[in-house]
Amino acid sequence: MVSGNLLEDQVSEEVIKYLEEKDDLCTCQQCQDDITALALSNLRPRYAGSEEGKVVISSVDLPSEQTKLDILRAIVNAAKKVSKRPHHDR
Ligand SMILES: [Zn+2]
Repeated sequence: MVSGNLLEDQVSEEVIKYLEEKDDLCTCQQCQDDITALALSNLRPRYAGSEEGKVVISSVDLPSEQTKLDILRAIVNAAKKVSKRPHHDR
């Protein structure tokens, strides 16, 4: 078992919050997953210990403001890309 918060969990939580605030973005499961995956791929290189999505944020200073900002910025960028080219029709 891995202790501590997984980056993936943190990101998917923030994606849901972000989409709730944005009426103009598609909030279907497909887009949520796409945004989460894209944001994670942008964040992963910044955090040590990456292996197959099991990136653990240091529990020492979690949740640090900087980490939150990094995550939010990655989500905003990912949401822009996904909303332009969603992986479904409509
Ligand atoms: Zn969608």
